[in-house]
Amino acid sequence: MEVNEVFEKVKNLFVEELGIDAEKVTMEAKLEADLEIDSLGIVEVAMAFEDEYQIVLPDDEIGELGCPDENKHDEKCEHNPNVEDLTNYLKTKFV
Ligand SMILES: [Zn+2]
Repeated sequence: MEVNEVFEKVKNLFVEELGIDAEKVTMEAKLEADLEIDSLGIVEVAMAFEDEYQIVLPDDEIGELGCPDENKHDEKCEHNPNVEDLTNYLKTKFV
């Protein structure tokens, strides 16, 4: 699946399920700062994708989205994922 197709799915879910303004949903938009989706919200988004597309999105992978350096990931790590991070991650799950 192409990146722009995955992006459209993300955008539709944000707009329809979370009531976010479509024009706010860009690849560069930060989930928390720009779209008010916190880490719990990201988990809920992941569950919605799992239900809709029969894919598996492990919590630990979701928790590492936007990690500045996955090799040094630990509990103190500051994550600030944007829509592109989520889209690229989901793309790996859609074959
Ligand atoms: Zn990290």
